[in-house]
Amino acid sequence: MTLEELWQAALGDIEIEISKPNFITWLKNSSLLDKNDGVALIGLPSIFAKEWVENKYQKIVLRSLRNLDETTKRVDFTVMNNAKKMLLPKTKKEMPVMDPDQLAFTEFRVDPETNLNPKYTLQSFVVGASNELAYAAAGAVIEEVGRKYNPLFLYGGVGVGKTHLIQAIGNEIKNKYQNKVKVKYVPSERFINEVVQGIRTKRMEVVKEHYRNIDVLIIDDIQFISGKTSTEIEFFHTFNTLHENNKQIIISSDRPPKFIPTLEDRLRSRFEGGMIADVAPPDYELRVAVLKNKLAESKIQIGEDIIACIATKVQKNLRELEGVLNRVLFHRQSKGQDLSVKLVEQIINETNQEPMVNVNPNQVIKCVAEYFDIALNDIVSHSRKKEFVEARQVAMYLLRELLGLSYPFIGEKLGKRDHTTAIYACEKVEQEVNKNPGFSQRVMLIKELINKN
Ligand code: ADP
Ligand code: MG
Repeated sequence: MTLEELWQAALGDIEIEISKPNFITWLKNSSLLDKNDGVALIGLPSIFAKEWVENKYQKIVLRSLRNLDETTKRVDFTVMNNAKKMLLPKTKKEMPVMDPDQLAFTEFRVDPETNLNPKYTLQSFVVGASNELAYAAAGAVIEEVGRKYNPLFLYGGVGVGKTHLIQAIGNEIKNKYQNKVKVKYVPSERFINEVVQGIRTKRMEVVKEHYRNIDVLIIDDIQFISGKTSTEIEFFHTFNTLHENNKQIIISSDRPPKFIPTLEDRLRSRFEGGMIADVAPPDYELRVAVLKNKLAESKIQIGEDIIACIATKVQKNLRELEGVLNRVLFHRQSKGQDLSVKLVEQIINETNQEPMVNVNPNQVIKCVAEYFDIALNDIVSHSRKKEFVEARQVAMYLLRELLGLSYPFIGEKLGKRDHTTAIYACEKVEQEVNKNPGFSQRVMLIKELINKN
């Protein structure tokens, strides 16, 4: 059997297993490019198709290939514009074949010990007027861990670089002091969950013990703990124990301590006892510098006029700025189009859609469930199955983005969940949308689906 024949036979089996629209959308223009050492390489026409098939149909593809040829051990997927071209050896002139997902950032592994992502470094943090105070404070903390600015409290709006900077401090300290210093990064959402779980399972002592053994505790987005009484109390005690022992505490928040509502006064005054620094929205110079830095990291060149255009139009925050840059680069890569200022403006405008007014929340949830091919019951259920969780989080994000609904309402609507769960989901999906063009495209498809309904 040739590769072609083998694949046609496999497709015949796959077609029976999945719905027709899905088959046509995702697998119709696929081919078996190679088979070596039991590894089958499947070519798909776009990054979206690749991601989709990889995530949803990998097992089915493997099973049907294995049924036909039992030496098949694994399947890999790749993007091809044209199967023949892919197989030719690359000539020097050709652009390197890049996976758009890898364009913007290399996948780093989060360190399970510290929870730190090594991609956040001080070297990759561009300093400008809006963040220089925070940056200087970070430097002082690294020099004199636990002694100078304790706690270090950084605050600022969404996407201005708080997480980047506090993780970079953690990474720097870890590298500098190696195993002598125990660093831990914790999104406050996780801290809340651990406390709640600890109380419920009567294992609070274990949680306490764990946190009190840390040398550098980094808590991200502390505003979420406000109003959660038992978590606040627990955090207060942890804070005191660490602080008394000259352990470093680093905190980020979306606002200064005095504006966090319902935060216990004693906790507020602890926060105010250290160094408070703000991270302001980036000014034009910083936006240009961050864009150039990103391009240099990825070894990509684009015109100054394009950089200026993006930096002028995308002002709100750096996460959005990165997201737009990724989409622009992805556009150039996937369509082979030369970039013009006009095209870039168009791409930016496309991403700033008006809210949809004549859609109700149930329609949004229904469309998401349909898209993910899961039952309505499952999307609002309490199951933690990966595919349900993803669909649920996307639904939360779209309810927020398209309808501007409140977090408590969104949480309630998707299975009576807490508003912090909704906030977390929305932020997570937003980040993913900005970083991952394939994912962003899927979310666009869902929006189209909602629009058509
Ligand atoms: P926040 O936590 O304030 O919401 P993040 O730290 O997640 O924001 O930053 C959003 C994105 O912008 C991240 O990808 C981050 O790496 C990037 N970023 C933020 N500030 C800078 C900076 N000063 N230099 C380079 N990249 C930055
Ligand atoms: Mg953050």
